Amino acid sequence: MLLVDMTCKSHKDNFDPFPWYKGGLRFKCTGCGKCCTGFPGYVWVTEEEMAAMASLLNISVDLFKRRYTRIREGRYSLTEKVSQNYDCVFLKDKKCLVYEARPKQCRTFPWWEENLESEESWKCASQGCEGISEEAPLVPYDEIERNLKI
Ligand code: SF4
Ligand code: SF4
Repeated sequence: MLLVDMTCKSHKDNFDPFPWYKGGLRFKCTGCGKCCTGFPGYVWVTEEEMAAMASLLNISVDLFKRRYTRIREGRYSLTEKVSQNYDCVFLKDKKCLVYEARPKQCRTFPWWEENLESEESWKCASQGCEGISEEAPLVPYDEIERNLKI
């Protein structure tokens, strides 16, 4: 357990219960599809998510697993087309073929803890996502937090 010194005045005075993005962050997805391609990675999927995607594609979960997933570190991840710039197996013409049933990892991007850790990490995420931009509308703090808790 982390011990907090509640008697330390300077700590108390400087303590801000809100994260650095309390004023909201600017983002709007442009649909460019870049977060679904470009580099090797993992899109982790749960049994429920695979069942939802299989149902959308009208195939069995077993077939879905065989066709579209691989197992890494004991978990299922969607396969990627290595020879096609590491496209996600469901990316076609910049569109997601399972959009309505896409996994949580996709639905919540870019609101991931690692992207929100600091201003630097948010800036770093913006290099791969053109939707993170000063021109984009402001997403309020409450909405960011809701996405983080999905
Ligand atoms: S990279 Fe960003 S803007 Fe492009 S599709 Fe992904 S979330 Fe949307
Ligand atoms: S499932 Fe869809 S949204 Fe997620 S990485 Fe693949 S193409 Fe992109």
